[in-house]
Order: sequence, then structure tokens, then C-alpha cells
Amino acid sequence: MTYTEIKEKGSKKYSYRVKSIRKGKKVDKQRIYLGVNLKKQELKQKEQDADKKLLNLKPKEPEKPITAKKTEMNRSPIVKSSIDITKISENKEKNIGITAEKDEFSEWFTQIMLKADLADYTDVSGCIVFKPTAYAIWDKIKEETDKRFKKLGIKNCYFPLLIPEKLLNKEKEHVKGFSPEVAWVTEAGDTKLNERLAVRPTSETIMYPSYSKWIRSYKDLPLKLNQWNNVVRWEFKHPVPFLRTREFLWNEGHTVYATKEEAEKEKDEIMNIYKEICEEYLALPSLVGRKSEKEKFAGAEYTISMEFYMPNGKAIQGPDFHHDGQKFAKAYNIKFLDENSKEQYAWQNTFAITTRVLGIMFAVHSDKKGLILPPKIAPNQIVIVPILFENDKKEVLKQAEEIKSSLVQFNPILDTREEYRPGFKFNEYELKGIPIRIEIGSRDLAKKSVIIARRDTGEKKEIKISDLEAEIPKILEDIQKSLLEKAKKLLKDNLIEVNSLEQTQSAIKDKKIALAPLCSSRQCEDDLKFKTDGAKVLNIPEHQPQPKNKNSMKCIICNKQADYIARIGKSY
Ligand SMILES: [Zn+2]
Repeated sequence: MTYTEIKEKGSKKYSYRVKSIRKGKKVDKQRIYLGVNLKKQELKQKEQDADKKLLNLKPKEPEKPITAKKTEMNRSPIVKSSIDITKISENKEKNIGITAEKDEFSEWFTQIMLKADLADYTDVSGCIVFKPTAYAIWDKIKEETDKRFKKLGIKNCYFPLLIPEKLLNKEKEHVKGFSPEVAWVTEAGDTKLNERLAVRPTSETIMYPSYSKWIRSYKDLPLKLNQWNNVVRWEFKHPVPFLRTREFLWNEGHTVYATKEEAEKEKDEIMNIYKEICEEYLALPSLVGRKSEKEKFAGAEYTISMEFYMPNGKAIQGPDFHHDGQKFAKAYNIKFLDENSKEQYAWQNTFAITTRVLGIMFAVHSDKKGLILPPKIAPNQIVIVPILFENDKKEVLKQAEEIKSSLVQFNPILDTREEYRPGFKFNEYELKGIPIRIEIGSRDLAKKSVIIARRDTGEKKEIKISDLEAEIPKILEDIQKSLLEKAKKLLKDNLIEVNSLEQTQSAIKDKKIALAPLCSSRQCEDDLKFKTDGAKVLNIPEHQPQPKNKNSMKCIICNKQADYIARIGKSY
């Protein structure tokens, strides 16, 4: 039976089917060929031929696994589908690419995480796999942060993952803050443990009994230790890869000083490191400020946080620094003899950067085509795609190899797979966020040049092969710079100064961060949350914006004298 015959026999059904495919809909193939008795294999072939003809398709690409649509982290692992005839043709490339718009944030973000090969789900609800690209980025963040910590004399160490219950309970505010999220180990094999062991949500309570033993005199201070480890916080809010997962990776710095002044001096040293990592590597601008009493770290005297603005209009907290005063020192008996042999409680700080910054970076920079990575943090900064034809394959490949070795410092990928079309590869590397693509074919070869495409702008230009070594670093630098500028603009455009509750409410409705005068009462902060449908004080700028008349600065909730101008927004 010929294609024309099929078309004639089932013409009505067929036109329905073609229309539906064009709309991207899945159609049951059984309904299409009613009354046409063909063998299964034959049918499949006819369908494919018909598809090609009718939809004027390019040759079929080799089958790639089509990932199941997922929006929740607690679903079962992804299943690779077998060839589904209704999904070939145009749906095929669509399924490999991102099918959601950036303003459908949750779906868009989840698709990028899965399709750009950054994360995967596991059978543990709320916990993800950090796939090699994501982990390589985290490695780089660790490396750069750690280098800077070491310059400050901070040393790495490792404390146990498990914390006996009695230790966890020593600092009351601290335990109150964490107890709803603690995961417990209660049994070993079949034996019930005498005392429950907490899986660390943070390590103060396991570290400080040791600090109490080790610190005897002012000569033992300062003590500056750090751990790169994982923690578990069993949150019940909806998990999102990297942004909110029950297990995450971080640094936890725990330092001890003889005086409050010395301890507080560390605040800027640490926050400057985090700021540098976020801005210069991740191209992420932030809002640094002090947390309100309500929002500060459980057990801290005060918390300094970095807040970021996400493309869905929500703020999210990133790295932070806590000055703990003498609270933990008193709870865990961390005392030393000063120069006059007088016993004193020590002063402490803690600070952290977590794998959440990966998620923030992925979300802020990426677009409809997929991931965009700032070059300084991208594991591969370049991909070389040779355009291969049978007659000149050898020469093009040879040139591509030469280009690869001349640009080795940028860790280039050379994609020599012949079963994929160049266009397919372009899409794939755009999805994966490789900052620069170099295309080389025989035409370029004749001109001794290549085509360069920027992932961030999509801009293409021709460059002489002899200029590549000089030009590539400039382009990468420009991508890095323009990603930061773009993110700064997004942040700036979404900050708005307001003076009343009504203005605050409308700013929040418009998905902005409001700068509003507020008093420091707990009641006003609670009311704010209620009256703004869940917005909260993100932090309080340390350098307060100067109001025209300070005395007329009234709290937007109680209308009494305000204590500060606070940043208010909805937050993760
Ligand atoms: Zn008030």
C-alpha cells in the first residue's frame, strides 16, 4: 500500500492527526488508521515517511531519551521512553529543549535542572543528585572560597555527622529553631539506641563541647575552624532542586575570639569573600543587610545575610554570617584565662555559603533555550562543533583538533559525533549553557576563519583562526561582565522605595522588593506578614538610605516612629 492510498483511505483521520501534531499534541495512532490493515512494522515505516513528507522534516536524529515531565521532587525516577511514534518529528527536538517559558518559573526551572543535566531526583523525597556539571561548579565555588578562608587563617576540619540529643538541647533558642526539622537515628541494626542521635542540621552543638575542652587560655585564641560538609533539614515546604532540598552542601565556619571587637571585625572579612564569589564568579548581585530579630539565626546575637532577587519575583537568602556573642560560649562553657588570669567567656561567629547559590545562579541567568553559565564558573567554556561532509571531513577535523589544543585552557569540548546534525548539537550545547560555540566547516576553512556564537546574546561573528587565542578571553570576559550587569539591572528594576502599607502591598503584588520604614517590634513584623499575604523583612541595609526627614519616618504598620528602613519581599 502506498502513502497516497493510506492518505485516501483515512483522509479525514489523517488531516486531524497532522493538525494535532502541528499543535504539539499527542494522538493515539490506532485512531488514525482505522480500517487499514497493515503489519505493525510496515505501519510504523509508513507513518514516518508520511510525517517527513507532510511536515517537510529534516532527517530524523538518533533517538534521545525523552524525559518525563516532572514538577515535584518526590516522584519516581525518570523513565527512559522507548520510541513513541507520535513524539518523533517536530515534537522530538521540542522534548529535548525547554518547553516552558521563564515566567512559568517552576516548570521552566525544573526542566532546565533535568534537561541540562544538572540534577536528578532520587527515591529520597526532597533530596537530589548533584550531577557532574553542577558538582564541578560547586567544586569551583569551594576552591575559590577556601583559598580566601585560608588567607584569613581559617583551617578545615571534620566533626561527626551525628549529634547526641543531650548536646543538641543545650542552647535553648538554637534547639527551638531547628528541632522541627531534625532527622533522627534511633536504631542500629535491630538494637534501639539508648540515646537518639540527630543528623546534623548544623554543627554548633557537636563542635562546641570540643571547643570547651581545647580552649584554656587567651593564647589558644582565635580559633578559626571550618567544615565543608552536608547537612539535613527535614523541611516540609515544597522542595525545589538546589533552592530548597532536605540535604544540602555548605561550608560552616565556626570561629572563636577573645573579644567582641575582634569577633565583629570578621563580619566584613567574611561577607566580602562571599560577595566576591557571588559577584565575580556567579555574576550575582545581592542585597547585604542585617536580619530582623524575628528572622535572625536561631541562637545568634545578629545575622548578616545576602538576599538575591529571583526571576519569579521572590527573594531568596544566600550566604550569611552570624555573630553569636557569648550565647553558645555560656551554653557550652567555652571559657579562657585572659592576660590577667581572669576567666572570660569567648566570643563566637558562624558563617556559611550553601549549594543554594547554584540554584540562584541557574535561575537568574538562564533563558528559554536553557542554561546560561557565567564563563568563570562554567566547567567547559567552549564547545567546538565541526560541520562535517564526507569529502573534507579529515581536513575540518584536523583543524578543529588544532583549535582545541590552542584553547586548552578553556577546557573546550570537541564534538565529533557524526550521527547528530550540527543544528542538533547547537541546541544541545545552548541547553547546557556552554558560554561560547565555535563552528568550523570547509567554507570557514578556506577563509582560515571560524564562526563564534555567544550563548548569552546569541550573537554570531566570524573570527580568523589566528586571532582566536587573543579574542576568546575578551569575549568570555565580556559575557561574564554583561551577565552581572543584566542581573544588576533586574535587581535594581525590582527595588522600590515606599512610605505606606498600601504602597508596600502594591509593590509586593507587583513582585518587587519594597524598601519601607518599619519599627523593630515583633508585632509589626507579624502584622506585616499577614497584611502583605506572606511578605517578610528580608534584611535591613547596614547603610540606611537617608530619608528627607528622619523624624517623619513612620512605621508603615503602627504609624509610630520607625527604627529603620527594611527590605520587604516574598521569600523562599
Ligand atoms: Zn511598628
